[in-house]
Amino acid sequence: MSGLDLLEPHRRSLFIGGTWREAAAGGRFPVLDPADGSTLTDVADGRAEDARAALDAAAGAQESWAATPPRERGEVLRRAFEAIMDRADDFAELMSLEMGKTVAEAKGEVAYGAEFFRWFSEEAVRIHGRWMHNPAGGTRLLTIRKPVGPCLFITPWNFPLAMGTRKIGPAVAAGCTMVVKPAELTPLTMLALAGALQDAGLPDGVLNIVTTTTSPAISETLMADARLRKVSFTGSTTVGKVLVRQSADQLQRMSMELGGNAPFIVFEDADVDAAVEGAMIAKMRNMGEACTAANRFLVHESVAVEFAEKLGERMGALRVGRGQEAGVDVGPLIDDKAVESIRSMVNDAVVAGARVVVGGQAPEGPGHFFQPTVLLDVQSDAEIVAQEIFGPVAPIATFATEEEAIERANSTEYGLASYVYTRDLNRTIRVSEALQFGMVGINTGLISNAAAPFGGMKHSGFGREGSFEGIEEYLETTYVALPVS
Ligand code: NAD
Repeated sequence: MSGLDLLEPHRRSLFIGGTWREAAAGGRFPVLDPADGSTLTDVADGRAEDARAALDAAAGAQESWAATPPRERGEVLRRAFEAIMDRADDFAELMSLEMGKTVAEAKGEVAYGAEFFRWFSEEAVRIHGRWMHNPAGGTRLLTIRKPVGPCLFITPWNFPLAMGTRKIGPAVAAGCTMVVKPAELTPLTMLALAGALQDAGLPDGVLNIVTTTTSPAISETLMADARLRKVSFTGSTTVGKVLVRQSADQLQRMSMELGGNAPFIVFEDADVDAAVEGAMIAKMRNMGEACTAANRFLVHESVAVEFAEKLGERMGALRVGRGQEAGVDVGPLIDDKAVESIRSMVNDAVVAGARVVVGGQAPEGPGHFFQPTVLLDVQSDAEIVAQEIFGPVAPIATFATEEEAIERANSTEYGLASYVYTRDLNRTIRVSEALQFGMVGINTGLISNAAAPFGGMKHSGFGREGSFEGIEEYLETTYVALPVS
């Protein structure tokens, strides 16, 4: 069995009300292999009328799903977790084919993504309200937690499995139904995930999937509908802002997991070898196509050259190629646009005085590849440090004092992930408290964990996924006043 076989032909379609079906208008669109642009397969191209049918199914299933015992809801997730892990290799290969990441990397995402189902299978039975005494006496104050209702999930292409499970897991656990619209570049993994949940016994209508090439038409249709009560979006800040504006008419609850511009700060007291090791993970996870990717390396001037040379050596040794080939460390980027944008940012930085330690070029096609690259002496106002790079390029700038490092790290509109390397405990506390980011990794390049609250501040969005906070996004509170004489 291999990746594409995981997704039986009849499941390469819309999933609505427990049925796999073609789009009402009959259209389909191809899913491409980013390593060579060839067509892997095609899927149904859903339109507004399909989105409405999906919401009909979700709204129709809401009441009975909310009334399903929490243990039963949790057990569906637990069975799906086990089914995914049993077929982890196939899930990894499918994801690698449509998205480009190496199979080894994709296996990491399968384990990380499936863990949200295990975590929330355990949280399903721990949703509780409160019983308290009115401070003035007499009345008791009770709170009841209820599922928020039918949800819309819109997910990006870079983590095709985990960005789905982070939303579906808590929603299923809380008793919500949902319509999921995966990225058009990587719809296959989400369809395979829906198959796993169906096989695990998820009742018809709880989860509905609409694949489409016309995302705005789907979200506009659904968000104009008063039955939709919640939207959770992972993707770019630009699109996130469009959706937040759109939510005003029906006042849907929103969760926004948006772009990042993570600083990676290496202080003079850091273990430089450990920092290089962490940098490889923080920068190269997913070929740099991660919202948590280290985007700006701020390195103390006394260790910058040593750090740059060691990082350059490690980056230069990476093998670029097809994600499914043995021995390949870095797969293709998602498309030509990504390569062009990175090429232009690197060129601009070099023209402004940055030194290329290693890489710097996009190899000839076919496929959308970029060499792992390290740049030293990057100007603090360069585009490459102001924008999300979303590729395998590490721009390094230097600083002289702790205050300067913090000030520069915070001087971005984003506030998602940040990384700090230091051996000084007092500094660890000072800097963690001063950084305006939703997540801080201390002496580690890997912060993602289903048991931790993932999310950002400022233009990186709001809301948290994973941990105890993750299920809160799917619960409403009703307060009951109960006078006692
Ligand atoms: P994107 O915003 O272009 O697309 C995300 C999703 O939105 C896709 O499903 C797309 O089809 C859909 N979409 C696009 N335009 C839309 C519109 N006008 N209305 C409704 N839906 C629309 O982002 P992308 O390129 O797929 O993903 C990369 C971005 O996602 C990066 O900025 C990255 O930082 C961010 N991201 C954030 C997190 C996080 O947890 N904070 C995680 C992964 C990726």
